[in-house]
Amino acid sequence: MDDPIDTTLLRDSAARLINDGYGFDRRRAWLRDGPDPATWQQFARMGWLALPFAEPMGGLGGTAADVAVLMREFGRGLVLEAYLPTVVLAGGAIARLGSADQRATWLPPLLDGTARVAWADSEPGDRADLETTRTVARLDGPHWRVDGEKIAVLGGDDSACYVVTARRADADGAGRAAGPVLLLVPRDTTGLQVEPHVMIDGQRACRLVLRDVVLPADARLGGDADADADVGPAVQHLLDTARALSCAEACGVLSILLDDTLAHTRERRQFGRTLASNQVVAHRLVDMQTLLHECEALAARATDAVMREAVSDADVAHRQRIVSTACRHVAQALRLVGQEAVQLHGAIGMTDDLRVGHAFRRATVLARRHGDADWHTARLAALNRSAPGGPPAGRLGLTLTAAEQRFADEVRTFVAAERPPATARKVANEQALTQAEWRHWERALARRGWLTCAWPAEQGGPGWTPREQLIFDAICMEMDCPAVLPFGPRMVGPVLLRYGTPEQQARFLPGIRDGSVAWCQGYSEPGAGSDLAALATRAERRGDRYVVNGQKIWTSYAHWADWMFCLVRTGRGQRPQQGISFLLIDMRSPGIEVRPIITIDGGHTLNSVFFTDVEVPAEQRVGDEGGGWTCAKYLLGHERLDVASLAPCLRTMRRLVAVAFERDAAGRCRADDLLFAAQLVDVQTRLAALEARVLDVLQRLQDGVAVGAEVSQLKVRGTELYQRLTELIVDATGLDGLAGDRDYALGRSDAARVVAPVAATAAARYFSRRAMSILGGSNEIQHDILAKAALGL
Ligand SMILES: Cc1cc2nc3c(=O)[nH]c(=O)nc-3n(C[C@H](O)[C@H](O)[C@H](O)COP(=O)(O)OP(=O)(O)OC[C@H]3O[C@@H](n4cnc5c(N)ncnc54)[C@H](O)[C@@H]3O)c2cc1C
Repeated sequence: MDDPIDTTLLRDSAARLINDGYGFDRRRAWLRDGPDPATWQQFARMGWLALPFAEPMGGLGGTAADVAVLMREFGRGLVLEAYLPTVVLAGGAIARLGSADQRATWLPPLLDGTARVAWADSEPGDRADLETTRTVARLDGPHWRVDGEKIAVLGGDDSACYVVTARRADADGAGRAAGPVLLLVPRDTTGLQVEPHVMIDGQRACRLVLRDVVLPADARLGGDADADADVGPAVQHLLDTARALSCAEACGVLSILLDDTLAHTRERRQFGRTLASNQVVAHRLVDMQTLLHECEALAARATDAVMREAVSDADVAHRQRIVSTACRHVAQALRLVGQEAVQLHGAIGMTDDLRVGHAFRRATVLARRHGDADWHTARLAALNRSAPGGPPAGRLGLTLTAAEQRFADEVRTFVAAERPPATARKVANEQALTQAEWRHWERALARRGWLTCAWPAEQGGPGWTPREQLIFDAICMEMDCPAVLPFGPRMVGPVLLRYGTPEQQARFLPGIRDGSVAWCQGYSEPGAGSDLAALATRAERRGDRYVVNGQKIWTSYAHWADWMFCLVRTGRGQRPQQGISFLLIDMRSPGIEVRPIITIDGGHTLNSVFFTDVEVPAEQRVGDEGGGWTCAKYLLGHERLDVASLAPCLRTMRRLVAVAFERDAAGRCRADDLLFAAQLVDVQTRLAALEARVLDVLQRLQDGVAVGAEVSQLKVRGTELYQRLTELIVDATGLDGLAGDRDYALGRSDAARVVAPVAATAAARYFSRRAMSILGGSNEIQHDILAKAALGL
């Protein structure tokens, strides 16, 4: 077994070389005069050319993950050398498929940097698709005869040999169905014409013209000429590896596009202020950073996928799905972030003098070189079609440890026993639940001590890790349990644990733990929404009580609640956040009136709550008088991954996939429609990105690292995706979805009357989920938070 590579050392040495030896001015000189051959020699001295090869071949035994570290730095340096096609693709093909002679001839000079071999697969008009190769290789007695043309052969201007992909044909010219043929074609071969050219991003390349090129039979990589060895799977794996690694390189490019744009917009002043101080600019920068983080998470997954051995067709399909998901997202990010970077630089972004323009050109190449976004969309749609029963959906992609598996089994057993089947059916069909149904489930959880699962063990929680909490949420969603209303266990409970007096804790926590007391949240007011500190509900101190007057609005489930935790104004300070207090108010108090607000889905969850001279004992104030903002902030800022809506997105995806792949009497399904299939791929990609990010953040929480504002990124992306999924279900159900069945959707009838259950509730859920990007701090406010906390604007 090869020794593992020290990736920190690798990253540092690559970053140093890029910073010291690959400055922008030098790069510009190389663009003009051609790359300095000394750089490639330096790559050899650093061991980078030997990195991915096994030790018996003279290599360092590095994995794809090691190479990914290097590629990211190459991306940051906009490196001109053709490392990926030369070392990973051409070198990888020789190492994997070459005979002993071929390896002995080509690997030593490739590894020590004295000769290069180029990877020649792309053809004029091509989108990097092996299936459409038109170069033809005919076996003619002891020879191959090759005809064709290649373009954009990176590094090919200066290579001693080419690995040429071709389609095999018999001597009479009839095409064979067999997979591709790889041929080693030395540069001095008769009939091979090499025409150097420069790519749009400055990389050196060549066009190859092959006219009746004659090669010995043993020029083929992967078996001698007579054996009909199919190199297709190996080549597909190599290409997937290159695709995954080009995602890592792309992350390096994206990071400098973001860095340079941030620096410029912080510096450049217009209208007497920096560009970045304009919200429209800051929010776009936040979106660029979010995309970068998603690409990083997906690129790491793709690299991981190509390192796993694929033994079955299902394994190969799984790898292709993960790689194409990453490539598609990265290709879109390269386009969006590149265009935004140029736009936010203004006219100077159009010049050749700034690194950002060069990065934009590299981004344009990278977004297409290994299949563009459409190509990967088509591949993913084909994988969806070929998956038996439709694509996998609805399950969390987390590899469980043995202990976690036991935990998951315990949760499943509990859920199967405790969740009433009728409630599960309603949840599965997206029907609204009654108060009794919610409470039944909450009490079942409470009996097991799981209602307050986010509480630390020493405060009465089960002491689950963040991963266990996510596993629990995902299983509950998968098994169609009602969601837990957060107001008691996830909102006021933690505030009481942190700021409540021992008496308050003794009085209120038991009812939260056992689910017997229902709470609601009284924050928003007609004049105080996003700007919560503008709230005006007054609480006047009279002896040992407060007298409350004012109005709360949008109070979810106030009509079911026994108690409200409420922000009221008890005074005024220099800042609007001062003089706010946190009161616990009994909803049966005289002077409280709850009026329903009916929402666009026809449902009643929201209310206005009016207070007229409502008396509240002073001992029901949590924290100091005038210090309520501290409690409010603690509650809002509590790091909770459920804001990412991952579990509901997984479940809604399952529903979407089910409806999209359901066949009608004529055998047709919605996913047969190419445009719909592309939309489906889009949300699948976004879900994969969300999941990868959630799992990254989860890992950091698990490791005890503070997470902070990143949760806002997850909230924005998760809620947007959740909304989009519900919208696509409306599209998938067509006119049936527009007919709908309001009574059924609101849980007032047990059977959908006119249309199928999914169509009956589709529009209602689309309408109600519009709230996801408004409540809990709207997505615009989350952008503000990210601009400040994550970008320092
Ligand atoms: C279904 C639902 C349930 C709710 N439940 C509760 C509850 O139980 N308790 C409770 O107290 N509240 C609740 N709310 C209220 C919720 O917290 C508020 O709706 C939210 O804070 C936004 O306030 P607003 O609706 O007044 O919108 P506004 O603040 O008026 O904002 C309107 C729009 O302008 C944007 N906007 C506002 N300020 C800025 C800015 N500075 N920059 C850029 N854009 C901005 C917002 O993003 C939004 O898109 C609920 C809301 C909904 C929809």
